[in-house]
Amino acid sequence: MKHSLSRQLIRKVLWLSLLGFIGLGGVFALSLIITLQEVQKRLEWSGLRAVHNFDRLVLDIESDLLATSHSLSSSSDFEHLLQQMRSRNRYLLQARLLDHNGQTLQSIGRMESQPLTLPEDVKSTLKSKIDQTYVSLNTLQGKGPYVEMAAGFTNELGISQGVLMIQVDLTELENQIIRQKVGQSGYVYILNSDRQIVATNQLHWLGESLPSPQHGLGANNFHLRTGLNHQLVFAVARPLEQVPWSVIVEQPVLEAIQPALGPTALITLALALGFKVIVNILSFSRREIVDPLQKLSLGVEEFKAGRLPQLEAVDAKNELGQLTTAFQSMAVQLQNSFEILELRVQERTSQLASINHKLAREVIQHQATAKSLAASEMQFRKTIQLAPIGMALTSLDGEFLTINKALCELLESSEEQLIQRSWADVLDPRNLEVVTTSIQELLMGRHKSRQCEVSCQSSNREPLHLVLNFVLIGIPDCKDQDSHLIIQIVDITDRKKAEDQLAYAAMHDHLTGLANRSFLVELIDDELKKVHQCHDYTFSVLFLDLDRFKMVNDSLGHNMGDELLIQVAQQLNQSLCKKDTVARMGGDEFAILLTDIRDRSEVAELVKCILHALESPFQLGTYRVNIGASIGIAFSNPCYSSAKDILRDADIAMYKTKKAKTGEYEIFHEGMYQQALQRLSLESKVRQALENEDFILHYQPILSLETLTVSGFEALVRWKQSDGTLVPPNKFIPAAEESGLIIELGNWVLEQACRDLIRWRSHIPSFNDIEVNVNLSGNQLQHPEFLQTVDSILNTYNVVHQLKLELTETMLMDSNVISILNQLKQRGLKLSIDDFGTGYSSLRYLQNFPVDSLKIDRSFITKMGQTRSDMEVVHAIISLAHTFDLSVVAEGIENPEQIRQLVQLGCQFGQGFLFSKPIPASQIESRQFEFIPQVS
Ligand code: C2E
Ligand code: CA
Ligand code: CA
Repeated sequence: MKHSLSRQLIRKVLWLSLLGFIGLGGVFALSLIITLQEVQKRLEWSGLRAVHNFDRLVLDIESDLLATSHSLSSSSDFEHLLQQMRSRNRYLLQARLLDHNGQTLQSIGRMESQPLTLPEDVKSTLKSKIDQTYVSLNTLQGKGPYVEMAAGFTNELGISQGVLMIQVDLTELENQIIRQKVGQSGYVYILNSDRQIVATNQLHWLGESLPSPQHGLGANNFHLRTGLNHQLVFAVARPLEQVPWSVIVEQPVLEAIQPALGPTALITLALALGFKVIVNILSFSRREIVDPLQKLSLGVEEFKAGRLPQLEAVDAKNELGQLTTAFQSMAVQLQNSFEILELRVQERTSQLASINHKLAREVIQHQATAKSLAASEMQFRKTIQLAPIGMALTSLDGEFLTINKALCELLESSEEQLIQRSWADVLDPRNLEVVTTSIQELLMGRHKSRQCEVSCQSSNREPLHLVLNFVLIGIPDCKDQDSHLIIQIVDITDRKKAEDQLAYAAMHDHLTGLANRSFLVELIDDELKKVHQCHDYTFSVLFLDLDRFKMVNDSLGHNMGDELLIQVAQQLNQSLCKKDTVARMGGDEFAILLTDIRDRSEVAELVKCILHALESPFQLGTYRVNIGASIGIAFSNPCYSSAKDILRDADIAMYKTKKAKTGEYEIFHEGMYQQALQRLSLESKVRQALENEDFILHYQPILSLETLTVSGFEALVRWKQSDGTLVPPNKFIPAAEESGLIIELGNWVLEQACRDLIRWRSHIPSFNDIEVNVNLSGNQLQHPEFLQTVDSILNTYNVVHQLKLELTETMLMDSNVISILNQLKQRGLKLSIDDFGTGYSSLRYLQNFPVDSLKIDRSFITKMGQTRSDMEVVHAIISLAHTFDLSVVAEGIENPEQIRQLVQLGCQFGQGFLFSKPIPASQIESRQFEFIPQVS
């Protein structure tokens, strides 16, 4: 294998190791050099110090010698001076003074072995030169070195007297050398001129002579040699200055280079171990990875050549083993797949052959289809031409390519006029956008067909309304030349007209042609938006109710009623500007929207005009009728959120006008709304009270003024509150009338009065003839089921001959009432006119009504004694009543004088607080004879 992985790996590792070794060698050499430099420095320093110590010692002794010799010239006490010298130098062996003859003048101490002798030449020199010294170094056998010194001395006159000689032991020198350490086992010694060791820190060498000339002096530089202990040592030699001796410093080589050896040895060991590990890894990877990979790669080569390799995994558990196994199984599978594929290819080839055959058949069929397509296109063109609705084929830009006859007729143009033109030339410009959008949507493929409604102007008719239906022939989103649009055009002008009429009908009142409620609400809502956008903008709504419409309708019939409404509508329209709208809200109610009001007084003026116009008589056939109207005005403000609210308020104001009976108008204000709310709340309370049966009846007696006996009672309703207090009828009857609850309440009163009467009769026999008056309200009498109700009550309670119904004059004004009254009379009921004199019925009407009695209103009776005219009115009423054979009851008699006057005027009956206030039914039985007043 040329590119064997293992060889490459081994080569790389070997190179790396070599580089490592070189590096390590470099490091070792460097550290050795540094160490050697340090050793040299150390040895030289030790030698230098030894030399210095020696020189200093010798110099000290020499200077002491000179000082003592000087002192000798000025003193005769030689012994004392020598003793002093000895005390200063404890190593002084002996000192001697010699005269010129060699005779000892004085001496101290004695060296046993060595007599003091001085060479003659030295002696003569010392005699002549006082400050000269003689120094001689020697050694004693087996002991350390000693120094012998001499100096001349003089008398006081400076004449030489002799020589002072001393011998000093240099043991101190040895001490200093001994103290000096050179590494762990290095040493220092001093050699004399005879190559004898005179001082050393290795005491056993003292006195030894060095045998070999290699130990000689002179080799001053740092050098290598065999030391005294026969080891290889580094050595340095230094000569002493005073004497021909020298200092030698030596250190064993091994010890000196010890610091450099330690780390290098460790690195070498580590490198060796590393090398061993690398070699192990290499052999492992060769066995476990490289060899199997080689086999695998051979297997792949074999597989490439188309043979199925036979691979065995060395170790099936590791990744390579798994890879080998997987490769082997993949190879087997691939082999199988190849075989299957080959089979499939064969199969597919035969299929393709049969498809080819089929295709050939289809091509023939296709040619036949193309033929029939051409025929069908012909048919298609014919169909378009003959279609009863308009049809056209256009380009995608809307240009007409084919147009049928129906479309030409519709557009009143010939085919030649239309061809090459487009929709833009035909349609009303406003409709172009809708057409373009439809076509665009179709082209984008969002829809299969699009429809739109357009209008176009015809030359001599009203606008045409058309529905265009677009269908795309071709592929959406691809504007090729084969793409076209087919358009069907349907004339919907008639349908459109009908729709418009319907829309108009939905927004207008069919009778008057005015806007209806929904239309008005829409308009008001639009106006409200303006108010919300600009708070300065004001509009107003008028609510108008005709005053006597019902009377006209009832008396002259519905047709006349309708005619009246039409005329009123016309009148209203005439009174208004174009920007204002009048609407019929239903029945005889109208509402008027006045927009963009600059000055509120204008509205008041307009309203007055309208009222004035409506007060003028209307001509209905041969009749002239006066009606009049009540108007409520509400002005816009930003608080209104819907049309309903402002209409409601205008209605409230109108109601207020009606109530005021002034025939004028009212402008809505917040207080009205509160009143309306109160009314509503009262209505709901009355409804609740009816359900809870909270109403009770009180009775006020009616007496014969002649006999002062009770002839009957008037039933008066009260509303009993939960705390027991009674609400009088005038507080709730109006609300009950407005809400229609009066029907139910009135029926209850009638039935309750009958029940009470029956009960009284059963207790008091004289009550068999007594009358009970029951008040009726207008609505009650007019109610369609009133007679039915009365019948059912009369059937239940046999009291008909004792019942009298009280009606007010205003109730008689209604034309229908008379027939009802007649029917009531037929049933045997009696009728009475209540509050007579307050209504506007004139006395002459009385004969027309089938009534039995009348009640003179309390206001006349009260004022009767005060003014003469009132008395005359009462008189007139009583006389007239008698003329028509009606009995008369005077209401509100409060003093006996009134009785007297009334009796005088011929009034038969009376009721009032003088006799009794209205009292509960239960009290009637017990107080039957107690109603008579004490008449004085
Ligand atoms: P009204 O029918 O004229 O009833 C007579 C009213 O005059 C009663 O008031 C009675 O209490 C009061 N009155 C009688 N004598 C005197 C008197 O000497 N001095 C004074 N100051 N007042 C006297 P009340 O009960 O408050 O009834 C008021 C009105 O309520 C009635 O007037 C009647 O119109 C109506 N009303 C009462 N009950 C009914 C009812 O059941 N149905 C209907 N539709 N109306 C009723
Ligand atoms: Ca009454
Ligand atoms: Ca009355």
